[in-house]
Amino acid sequence: MIDELGKLPGVGKRSAERLAMHVLRMDKREASALTRAIEEVKARVKPCTTCHQLSENDPCDICADPRRDGSIVCVVEDSSDIWAFEKNSEYRGRFHVLGGRLSPLKGIGPEDLTIDELLDRIRGGGISEVIIATNPDVDGDATALYLAREIEPLKIAVSRIGLGLPVGGSLEFADHRTLQKALQTRQKLTD
Ligand code: ZN
Repeated sequence: MIDELGKLPGVGKRSAERLAMHVLRMDKREASALTRAIEEVKARVKPCTTCHQLSENDPCDICADPRRDGSIVCVVEDSSDIWAFEKNSEYRGRFHVLGGRLSPLKGIGPEDLTIDELLDRIRGGGISEVIIATNPDVDGDATALYLAREIEPLKIAVSRIGLGLPVGGSLEFADHRTLQKALQTRQKLTD
């Protein structure tokens, strides 16, 4: 159990030991509620077939919402980045979750991400701008440039947020002002 808890992000060995001790002290009902919550979330939450964010519904609430502007798609690495935009910006377009970013060092190539799905979505029509919101670091920038080159022949605007975001920082932890400014000052990647 300590090994498994230790695999969670931000949980070191000592925290894993403390959490395991806490679970040991739980009564049986509390412990069952925890395991049930984990099982339920794994059974019910799946990627949306349109934008690939994790959701209980398919299409997800954002893809299904007719009030959202479907002509703008913001491309992010993970579902948690969508939550950051929803919580900390006035963005009212739609999203596309790549499922990570290109990383030659980690052996992550275009085929490991939902890039083909994004291109298919654009070819399907109705999208006039793609805003690339991969995280501001070397791999995130390389991913943005790769996407811009792939999207360019499809003749829609491609822009990149990032100004104002600290290099190496994460969208997930950006505050409202920073995220909103990064959106407003997005720069064109294609002509
Ligand atoms: Zn969706």
